[in-house]
Amino acid sequence: MNLFYKSTRNSGRTVTASEAILKGLADDGGLFVPEYIPKLDVSMEELKAMTYQQTAYAVMKQFLTDFTEEELKECIDRAYDAKFDTEVIAPLVKVEDTYHLELFHGATIAFKDMALSILPHLLTTAARKNHVTNDIVILTATSGDTGKAALAGFADVPGTKIIVFYPKGGVSRVQELQMVTQKGENTSVVAIHGNFDNAQSGVKALFEDRELEKELAASGYQFSSANSINIGRLVPQVVYYVYAYAKLLENEEIAPGEKINVTVPTGNFGNILAAYYAKEMGVPIAKLICASNENKVLFDFFRTGVYDRNREFILTSSPSMDILISSNLERLIYAISGQDAQKDSALMEQLKEEGSYEITPEMKARLSDFAGGFATEEETKEAIRTTYEKTGYVMDTHTAVAAHVCAQYKKESGDDTKCLVASTASPYKFIHSVMTAIDGKYADTDEFELVDELSRLSGTDVPPAIEEIRNAEIRHTKECGAGEMKQTVKEILGV
Ligand SMILES: *Cc1c(COP(=O)(O)O)cnc(C)c1O
Repeated sequence: MNLFYKSTRNSGRTVTASEAILKGLADDGGLFVPEYIPKLDVSMEELKAMTYQQTAYAVMKQFLTDFTEEELKECIDRAYDAKFDTEVIAPLVKVEDTYHLELFHGATIAFKDMALSILPHLLTTAARKNHVTNDIVILTATSGDTGKAALAGFADVPGTKIIVFYPKGGVSRVQELQMVTQKGENTSVVAIHGNFDNAQSGVKALFEDRELEKELAASGYQFSSANSINIGRLVPQVVYYVYAYAKLLENEEIAPGEKINVTVPTGNFGNILAAYYAKEMGVPIAKLICASNENKVLFDFFRTGVYDRNREFILTSSPSMDILISSNLERLIYAISGQDAQKDSALMEQLKEEGSYEITPEMKARLSDFAGGFATEEETKEAIRTTYEKTGYVMDTHTAVAAHVCAQYKKESGDDTKCLVASTASPYKFIHSVMTAIDGKYADTDEFELVDELSRLSGTDVPPAIEEIRNAEIRHTKECGAGEMKQTVKEILGV
């Protein structure tokens, strides 16, 4: 039976999974959601014995029902291969009394790889299925992690081109080097003279430019998005929660049917929403613990039922979580409203106009599976340092926010259910903050000089992603003014 998708802002029209992936965002500005969350149709006993790729198929076939078995398996095999530095793709590491699910073993050493290594294949397959003959041009504005993961995912994928805009001077040194050394004939990286907001609004304007759309079509191109609201990014993220549970069972860390809690360091609410979908599919998850940094909009939301973005934007050492509008929360709002598109639209309109909204008591009552917490900058550093001192394990800053929140939740609630922490980046990616947290003496040391020191301290190999950029050739030097993005795109595409 086919599972269809509808918009959170209009339940009237449905589309297939492949159409939803191609479109990214619904025409009414809403996000695509499945009509219902499908249940797993294999038992935990069976899942225990499965590889990551087999688990991916078991989960994704339930959501992407208009893909054939052959299509889906091909996408999976091309995504989860030797680009990952471990055969198990997402290893579980026990650190004291919690389980870290390491989601950073892909090409760009952050968890975005889990979805962005398969999205290009899902997208090109979806294009083929829907008889799209144009080449797909992915346009992305990035503040760091997404741009590189999208570049790595789309590099040399036939039928696609990718253009990434990043703010000159607005990303970390490792992040910039990762992007400007990107290989692949179909990749372009442009530094714009402006900030991330300029890049983001410039890209939006290009998507909405109907004249440009026609010019592109005449040359056989159409735009698409690798943005985190694409259902093609969400579904692959459900996989690792199913996989992690099955592996805990296989390793006899938990008993059959035993519930676990899951703590996720959250920004755009994509990763934790995937955990919620896994729970709805049938994985025995008790609490979903949402961990924020000092930009704690979500913590306040879970506590009070009021979402309020009218506050100072704080730059923290976990930049991928520095966000005041968590786009994917809209999917949860829609679910707890009882799939009421009108209610959802009204709240989202309020968010746009006033910067805040309040959910009803009935909606709030449906949030009982969630708990929220946050870590200050000081607490984040302390989590990195004390965990290192006690165990030798080194966490990145984002993961440390989650580890702190997980421990705090345990202490305050008295709930001692075993806890899984989503570990979203390699410590090598945010090496300066990580090393300084361990010892203040590293504060003035150059990032690259710290690489070998971290390797020694943590007893881990330097990831290929870091080795690569140390000596790699710079391939992208294009820059443009914030007002010249359209001209730059046309030049790159030769239209
Ligand atoms: C993107 C990102 C997050 C936040 O994930 P969301 O799905 O946006 O909530 C957390 N940690 C790292 C390292 C990231 O790159």
